[in-house]
Amino acid sequence: MSRRPLVAGNWKMFKTRAEARAFAETLAENLAQADGVDLAICPPFTSIDVVATVLQGTGVGVFGQTGHENENGAHTGEVSMGMLVDAGASGVLLGHSERRADCAETDQALARKVPAALVAGLTPVLCVGESEFERDSGSTKAILDVQVREGLSGVPKDRLGDVVVAYEPIWAIGTGKSARPEIAQEAHAWIREELRSLAGDTADSMRILYGGSVKPETAAELMALPDVDGALVGGAALDALSLLAIAAAARP
Ligand code: PEP
Repeated sequence: MSRRPLVAGNWKMFKTRAEARAFAETLAENLAQADGVDLAICPPFTSIDVVATVLQGTGVGVFGQTGHENENGAHTGEVSMGMLVDAGASGVLLGHSERRADCAETDQALARKVPAALVAGLTPVLCVGESEFERDSGSTKAILDVQVREGLSGVPKDRLGDVVVAYEPIWAIGTGKSARPEIAQEAHAWIREELRSLAGDTADSMRILYGGSVKPETAAELMALPDVDGALVGGAALDALSLLAIAAAARP
């Protein structure tokens, strides 16, 4: 089954609004390099509207980096899924390992956030991945199974196909140490198997992105793997041409 690749750039807590605008303008001018690949930018909340305005009509998605499951309420510092849509977002990262570690974004919370994103009309990207300790102790598959199953437990079966999953081994994020291709493929195949147990044949059309120190030089090898359907990119996504080079490597 051929799946259209998705390459998403996670800016984390980087870029002012002026820097975000400059990035988006460069991206828009050079989009032909990413023909055949879906692109998304995940700016901090403060720059979602700027990026969405510059990229309007280009087909490039603008995703939040997290979102709250409630529509509104007394949740200081939080932003709801509807507010992300209002700012111009079309998707949202959920369960990034930095959010799991810093802000207790638990599997139980994700079970509410993923369906809330879908109800608001956003594409949720559920991030999963094991720590170095979990890998070394042989529990990677068990950890991924739980994160996928619990994170998707609130999603109606007929909406599972609208979810994107990102495999991001924690030991590979921001370390410069990308997973070796055979390690990435094995984990992606495990995730697809778990998705199949939840969604049946729909699992074949669901995109599973690889994230963890993807660079333009290493992208082609990873993007060619049978169960890798694109990338979630951190550091290398802060430069528009670098992100486009990764997207070019993902072209079918
Ligand atoms: C990320 O933030 O999701 C990520 C994969 O970061 P990096 O590419 O810098 O490892």
